[in-house]
Amino acid sequence: MSAELIRADAAAAAPDALADPAIARRLLGLALDHGPALEGMDAAGILAWAAGHVRGPLAVTLSMQDTVLADLAARHAPEADLIFLDTGYHFPETLAVAAAVAERYPGRLRTVTPEATPAEQDAAEGPDLWARDPGRCCALRKVRPLAAVTRPYLAWVSGLKRCDAPTRARTPVLEVDRTGRLKLNPLAAWTEADVARYIAEHELIVHPLTRAGYPSIGCAPCTARVAPGADPRSGRWSGHEKTECGLHT
Ligand code: SF4
Repeated sequence: MSAELIRADAAAAAPDALADPAIARRLLGLALDHGPALEGMDAAGILAWAAGHVRGPLAVTLSMQDTVLADLAARHAPEADLIFLDTGYHFPETLAVAAAVAERYPGRLRTVTPEATPAEQDAAEGPDLWARDPGRCCALRKVRPLAAVTRPYLAWVSGLKRCDAPTRARTPVLEVDRTGRLKLNPLAAWTEADVARYIAEHELIVHPLTRAGYPSIGCAPCTARVAPGADPRSGRWSGHEKTECGLHT
């Protein structure tokens, strides 16, 4: 894959773009002043707003379940970096999508890995942490790497949609995350039909498992096939209370 590969501990050494409190205050002001108007914009307009107003580096995080956000960013936020968290537990199909994204949008993708490989994590924490304590596993393999890799950025973009799950039904288009960075959710109002239409219109890369009974795709050990008509996220961490990985809290 022709993408920049960076480990979370190396990423954590980067200077924090929000070290100056005046920057955090400016970002909060942007959220307060522009958040309501952004609710009425389409995804292209939201990304163009971010590219024009943030006045600093912008990260677009990709799950690789689909590549809508990558394509929108290529068109409307061409300076933004695409970020992929390679947890070490992805389906091979997900890694193939990431490789295809790196080729289709050259020079854009930054892949971040956790500090420990799965084998190192097994040695330190015991085998299959994801089965015993998925909260800690996600903290080590998702939350910490994302926090590290977003240090140079003033804002990041996620693919959250309100239709994903009841827990996401109130997702705003623009918010301030717990670090003070702006977080944009330009697909917040999209439906699954909107996603399918955009994929078809722009002939996007398709994750093959989305057509094989996996409407919501995360790490392989924590993603199960879902019966037709069932809650799309019911296959995630099935058997656990957990419903979110912690990246969006
Ligand atoms: S989704 Fe599962 S395997 Fe992936 S980081 Fe979370 S607990 Fe670990």
